[in-house]
Amino acid sequence: MIFEGLSERLQETFKKLRGHGKLTEDDVNEAMRDVRMALLEADVNFKVVKDFVKKVKERAIGQEVLETLTPAQVVIKIVNEELTALMGGTQSKLNISSVPPTIIMMVGLQGAGKTTTAGKLALSLRKQGKHPLLVADDIYRPAAVKQLEVLGKQLDIPVFSMEAGTDAVTIAKESVPYANSHAADVIIIDTAGRLHINEELMQELTSIKSEVKPHEILLVVDAMTGQDAVNVAESFNGSLGLDGIVMTKMDGDARGGAALSVKAVTGCPIKFVGMGEKLEALEPFYPDRMASRILG
Ligand code: GDP
Repeated sequence: MIFEGLSERLQETFKKLRGHGKLTEDDVNEAMRDVRMALLEADVNFKVVKDFVKKVKERAIGQEVLETLTPAQVVIKIVNEELTALMGGTQSKLNISSVPPTIIMMVGLQGAGKTTTAGKLALSLRKQGKHPLLVADDIYRPAAVKQLEVLGKQLDIPVFSMEAGTDAVTIAKESVPYANSHAADVIIIDTAGRLHINEELMQELTSIKSEVKPHEILLVVDAMTGQDAVNVAESFNGSLGLDGIVMTKMDGDARGGAALSVKAVTGCPIKFVGMGEKLEALEPFYPDRMASRILG
């Protein structure tokens, strides 16, 4: 289970504080040393950990004596609030255009779960009464086009593709009039992934972006890859500009550092989490619920 290690470590730390009627500065310092170690072991970005611990410490020492809470409960409350803030505070939703179609561009490296997530998102939007169109724009891997077509058939959601050899920008552009004439109000473009970030990939994505002007660029990253996922997000955000992140494979036993760091490092919020291989397994991301789950 994701965050299992972190959860256990934090609970142990807070258990030690429970016996104390009043917390001294030393107690708080010791607890924060443990919190710091726990976060680093969970693969949270080093600088993020430093800022986090500093904030919690400042709030925990001095002020905030609440009559209804024990000192240990006050520290837990502060950690909970700061974890929530770290992950973006409130839920971040998709940008839906007031004039249809809403155009969503899915980007990411190969294997992160981009194509699967495109399907999951289409299903989720249809459940909300929308009429999505999936666009097969990962033209370099014929298997990817096929994969999306299979997904579309399975979900009974239309898939737009063009003949082999058509370039990715043209396909994206042509999908818009197609959507309009087929009463689709959300276009989900499954762009090409690569094993690594390279100039060519970014160039293509930038061209698609300037051609179709998406309302939402969603980066799909794999929680299991830890800080690599954060680096990938930083790089895509720098070159392309992102509106949101989908963190996949949150059902696995990732340590969770990527989910905790990525908003603070990139400024870009996680909007959805992938919770399994099934097409229903996509959930909106709620920072407060995730923080409470970590704290057990
Ligand atoms: P793409 O190359 O980025 O398009 O990746 P795919 O969509 O083909 O997904 C790669 C693999 O990850 C597939 O086996 C998916 O079933 C799996 N996958 C995607 N999202 C999740 C998730 O949230 N949890 C789990 N456990 N597996 C996932």
